[in-house]
Amino acid sequence: MNPWIAKAVVIAGTAVMIAIRAPHGRRSRSVKVARSHRTPREAWLLVLAWVGFFVPLIWIASPAFSFAEYPLRAAPLVAGVTVFAIGLWLFYRSHTDLGTNWSITLEVREQHRLVTRGVYRRIRHPMYSALILYSVGHALVIPNWVAGPSNLVAFAILFALRVHPEEQMMVDEFGDEYAAYAARTKRLVPGVW
Ligand code: SAH
Repeated sequence: MNPWIAKAVVIAGTAVMIAIRAPHGRRSRSVKVARSHRTPREAWLLVLAWVGFFVPLIWIASPAFSFAEYPLRAAPLVAGVTVFAIGLWLFYRSHTDLGTNWSITLEVREQHRLVTRGVYRRIRHPMYSALILYSVGHALVIPNWVAGPSNLVAFAILFALRVHPEEQMMVDEFGDEYAAYAARTKRLVPGVW
């Protein structure tokens, strides 16, 4: 199959992702940060996430990764588009539910509210679940060994190194309320983990 099909899917998915996040990014900038937990490690993790995000776009725009190309097949493409679409839907829902409590890094905003409803009812990190689905979608859709897994590798590292400090920050902020919420929910997959 023509790799431009995969390129079109990635361009469309990236545009949807940006369209979902942009208004929340703008809105959250209007709410002051009360306590920042942005460490140098957090800053490096964000750089890594941006690299993971841009590598597929470089693959689309240039022959830089042509040495790692393999043929595009229908089954991974269809599976990838499905996972990609579910990931984008969950990304939209988690942004809507989190509202102005969202931050790109670890910080607590003024009048920060603990969200436990909507897609946060059964899992504590639906936005990270969404980003993992989005990254798995990339890995399946992009027929390239470098550009395909780039988002997944970057995001897996970010998640692994961020989830504990984030939960600790939430316990420090919300105490027993977060502990009770953590006791009745899973991290990424409802009922599983
Ligand atoms: N880990 C969550 C949120 C990612 S955005 C998810 O995957 O859906 C990261 C910011 O969200 C953190 O800095 C924290 O301030 C905020 N946050 C995380 N969980 C929250 C919750 N349940 N309610 C309110 N804010 C939360």
